[in-house]
Amino acid sequence: MKCYQVINFGKPLALRVYENPIPKGKEILIKILACGVCHSDLHLADGFFDLGDGKRITLADRGTKLPFTPGHEITGSVVAKGEDAKEVNIGDSGIVFPWIGCGICQACKEGNETLCEAPKYLGARLNGGYSDHIIVPDSKYLVSYGDMDPAVAAPYACSGLTAFSALKKIPDTHSEDWIIIIGAGGVGINGILLSSAVHKAKILVIDNNKEKRDKAIEAGAHAAYDPDEEEKIRSVIGIGASAAIDFVGMPETSDLALSLVKKGGMVVVIGLYGGSLKLSLPLVPMRSITLRGSYVGELRELRELVDIIKSGKIKLMPVKRQDLSTANQAMSDLRAGKVNGRIVLIPS
Ligand SMILES: [Zn+2]
Ligand SMILES: [Zn+2]
Repeated sequence: MKCYQVINFGKPLALRVYENPIPKGKEILIKILACGVCHSDLHLADGFFDLGDGKRITLADRGTKLPFTPGHEITGSVVAKGEDAKEVNIGDSGIVFPWIGCGICQACKEGNETLCEAPKYLGARLNGGYSDHIIVPDSKYLVSYGDMDPAVAAPYACSGLTAFSALKKIPDTHSEDWIIIIGAGGVGINGILLSSAVHKAKILVIDNNKEKRDKAIEAGAHAAYDPDEEEKIRSVIGIGASAAIDFVGMPETSDLALSLVKKGGMVVVIGLYGGSLKLSLPLVPMRSITLRGSYVGELRELRELVDIIKSGKIKLMPVKRQDLSTANQAMSDLRAGKVNGRIVLIPS
């Protein structure tokens, strides 16, 4: 099989050719139909996340061994299976759930694999989807998408799931409530598109890019403002928003989010841009504010999400199909901010 792999952190991916692996036990071998190119693939290839104040967390510290194949937004079909993979048939296709835990800790047993302290995420700890084949540890991680286009379905494993899980972490809202979405990039737009499936609240988007604000309104946001228009934002949301989701994850955006939620409100940080936050501690108890993180999402949430996107009730995100061999170009285009919609790599 052909894989585009990180050989050295900070260097372009290199093409490597291996024998197709043979699935054992509950494993299945998937022939990849599509794999989305996600922003976090850039961090993975760089080998670190910026924690602010000059601190970094490196992938080497987190247990990533080189070489590895990135890519975690995978769709494909089963071409071989281990002797214990009984609940799947050759030819079955689906979205691969990549956020796999150790399977034995309490969090994993409760289905909260993203809270596992020893994760085995595909495309980070185990080889991912910038390839034509992949081993998936258990057939339960293949979520059928019916007759959807595999390229369109692929990004729901991360971009869609991240937005969906963040929305689900916000307590139920009413139709007069506001949820603020900061950052109308790909994941933020997915958040807008999916919001009506989870919440009754109206959506107010904050982004400093006019084009993205227009896209946000097109996607169904009720209002969209530049971060400099704070006065206008406050006149719209009144006493404050029920919740805010920071899809960027910069000190400025999280600070803004915290200042715009009402008493009892929640700020969910999902962006991984980087930096650190200065927080006025007395306001946390006095305003009973919850600041929480959300990282991708769980298998049960992906199943729920796939049911929603299959139902046809939600507008789906556009994708741009490119040959797998363009993986490096796709990553540098994403890094340069040139990408509208999701690039999805298709093995030839
Ligand atoms: Zn991702
Ligand atoms: Zn675990």
